This record gives sequence, structure tokens and C-alpha cells, in this order.
Amino acid sequence: MRDIVIAGAGMAGLHTAESLRSAGFDGTVTLIGDEPHRPYSRPPLSKEVLTGKGSPRSLQLREDGEIDALGLDLRLGRRAERLLAEERAVLLDDGTRVDYDGLVIATGARARRPRTDLAGVHTLRTLDDAEAVRAAFARPGGHVVVVGAGFIGSEVAASARACGWEVTLVEAAPTPLTRVVDPRVGTVLTELHRDNGVDVRLGTGVTAYEGRGRVERVRLADGTAVEASMVVAGLGVDLNTEWLAGSGVKLDEEGAVLCDARCATAVPDVYAVGDLASWPHPRYGGRIRLEHWTNAGEQAAVVAHNLLTPAEAERRDYTPVPYFWSDQYGMKIQLLGRAAPADTVEFVHGAPEDRKFVAFLGRADVLVGVLGLRSTPKTMRYRTLLEQPTTWEDALAAAGR
Ligand code: FAD
Repeated sequence: MRDIVIAGAGMAGLHTAESLRSAGFDGTVTLIGDEPHRPYSRPPLSKEVLTGKGSPRSLQLREDGEIDALGLDLRLGRRAERLLAEERAVLLDDGTRVDYDGLVIATGARARRPRTDLAGVHTLRTLDDAEAVRAAFARPGGHVVVVGAGFIGSEVAASARACGWEVTLVEAAPTPLTRVVDPRVGTVLTELHRDNGVDVRLGTGVTAYEGRGRVERVRLADGTAVEASMVVAGLGVDLNTEWLAGSGVKLDEEGAVLCDARCATAVPDVYAVGDLASWPHPRYGGRIRLEHWTNAGEQAAVVAHNLLTPAEAERRDYTPVPYFWSDQYGMKIQLLGRAAPADTVEFVHGAPEDRKFVAFLGRADVLVGVLGLRSTPKTMRYRTLLEQPTTWEDALAAAGR
């Protein structure tokens, strides 16, 4: 293998390049990214950047010198437009063609946009998005309507309050993060927003964004209307995999790249990594896909190893303990493993009403997740229980129950 192309210069793409070099690969590594910036970290966008504490430079994943030392053929501001799998080549938006022996798909995701052309309606995925929202938050006295109380919407609401803005948080589900956490935890998170002065509207969606050229108000399904100087929508993501159409790389109905346990796609020597990769995980009874920062790095190391390992038997399956965190109002929420609303929930330390707890999440008598609020050391201590199947009973015993 002499030429490896990585499409997507985010966390997963850069980590793949670094892992290839640290494994001793001295061939050409071409890293193609459609953003103009050198690879940067997204988690601070909704936290430090919006509150004015982080500069674009402080987000850069590596110093310029460290990136230069990797000796990459770095193509920034360039989009991969088509994969010609039979010719082992990627076509770029400037008409050039990059040939490969091995290809890594790391083009991630983009924020789903609400259906309106009005100015002042934002999403948050890129540094440019964050700088636009920050420019508004830096001016006092605004009112933002945040649509969607997932992790990103919740963090935007917290950051807007820290900037002194009025915030209305609109969520169609009965509590924030319904897809992930138990209603008792959802209720704690709702109260946290309300105690910090957020007007939380649950169980109602947006029916229209109104204004002349620029958003002035948001109309809700419950018949009310909320005045807004700005909207930030946290409606989830669409995966950047359209460019793979017709290539032979298999996608599922949401556009995720279908990989095997080693993160290989259906096309020889083509792997996928990061937010867009779906692969079978033995401990979660089927395929999983993670939109998590830590996953992008850990998966990249396995992809680089497998790409450089000709012997099938020496390639590695990717079986991580998923990990995600979120910071809201100075409180850290952490989730190890996988959570689903139907899970059994047992608070093994603290309680939801204390706003400080560790909860075990169980499915079919097996521990599947550990959720912590303001309890980092205690939460992380249980990570080892998720590295192999642990019965519910053994998990509770490990927590002294
Ligand atoms: P991306 O970061 O999306 O990188 C893909 C890159 O490829 C992008 O630069 C994209 O523009 C580029 N690209 C797309 N299409 C093409 C193309 N055709 N050609 C070339 N380049 C292309 N995770 C956590 O665990 N904790 C957090 O607190 C947290 N906070 C977050 C806050 C925000 C605001 C956001 C947006 C994400 C957050 N995440 C968090 C998620 C985490 O940042 C992602 O899981 C991670 O960035 C995924 O990395 P990736 O490299 O797979 O994809």
C-alpha cells in the first residue's frame, strides 16, 4: 500500500492520518477537507466558542507544526465529489482526480436545516456557524429560540443564558434528551434549564418561522408564537455520504456507511470512520453508529491498523465502550455505553433530585450503560464493567448494592 486517501479532514480524518504515521506508514497520505480550516475540535463550538472563551486557534486539533510533521498532502477547501471504486480514484470538485491504494471515508455529518430561508435562523456544526452565532450573542439583549433540546440545543441554551440572552427552548418530546435518558433524568434537565431562566416549551414543535427577510417570531404547534431575534436549530444531522452514490459502498436508509466488524466497507480497501460509520457491535445486539468525539479517535486507530495489515487474521474488530459527555450550566453529563428509553434505570449513587448521581442502565438483565451527572470519577470507574458482558446482578454488586 503506497497511497492512502482520507476524505474528510475532521477529528476522524486527522486521527486516521496520525495513526497511519505512528504505525510507520511512509507512503502518501492525502487528506481532503471541504472546510477552509485546519482540522479542529467541534465540542467547544457550543460551549467555549459561543460564550467567547475559545478562539478558533485554540480549537485546532494540532499545532501547525505537528500537522506539517505528518507530511500530508493536505487539500483543504476541496470537496470529494465522486468515488470511482473500480478505478481506485476520488474525483474532487476542482476536476482533479486522486488515485488510491486504500481509501478512508471520514466525511462526517452536517446539521439538518429547518425549512426556511429567513436570515437569523442558524444551525451549529462548523466553526463558521459558531462564529456567526457568537457574533450575535456578543451583543446584549437578544432573544434566541432554540429548537430541539438534544445535547447541542441544550448546550446552546446554556451558553446563550451565560451571555445574558433571553432563551426559549422548544422540544417536541415530553422531556429533553428523550431518545437517550429516562424521564426522571429528563425532568432534572428541564428543571436545570428553568432554574437558569430558560422558558422551556415541551411537547410542541415549530409550525412556522415568520418575519420579513429575517426571522422575527416562531409559531408553535400549541398555537402560541414566540418573538425571536434569532433561532438556533438543533435538529440532528444528515450524513455526508451522497458523494458515494453508485460507488458500490453500501449505505443504510439514513445514509450511514455499512461496514463489517473491522470497519471495512463493501468495496475492497475502503474503510469508514467517525459519525457516518455503522458497524456490528457484539455487545449491543446489532449495528451501532456513534456521533461521539471519542469514537472518532478510537475508531481511526483501528481503521489505520486494518488498512495496513494484509493478513486478515491479524486485523482487529472494533468493539469500543461508547463514551459521550455534555456540559450544561457548569454541570457535566457523561454516558458510557448505549442508552435507550426502555432501559431499566437504577440510581446507584446519589439521586436525580440531588442533581448529582450515577445511574446504571440495563437491558435483558445485562448492564448496557452508565449515566453520570456531576460524578466524573465514580462514573468512569464503571467503564470496565462495560468492556465485556456484565449481568445486571454483578453490576449492582460492583456498586455495593
Ligand atoms: P466531522 O467532524 O463532521 O468531520 C468531517 C469533515 O469532513 C468536515 O470538516 C466536513 O466538512 C468534511 N466533509 C464533508 N463532506 C466532504 C466531502 N465530500 N469532501 C471533503 N470533505 C468533506 N461529541 C462528544 O462526544 N461530546 C461533546 O460534547 C460534543 N459536542 C459537540 C458539539 C457540537 C457543536 C458538535 C457539532 C458536535 C459535538 N460532538 C460532541 C460530536 C463530535 O464533534 C463528532 O462526533 C465528531 O466531530 C465527528 O468527527 P468526524 O470526523 O466523524 O466528522
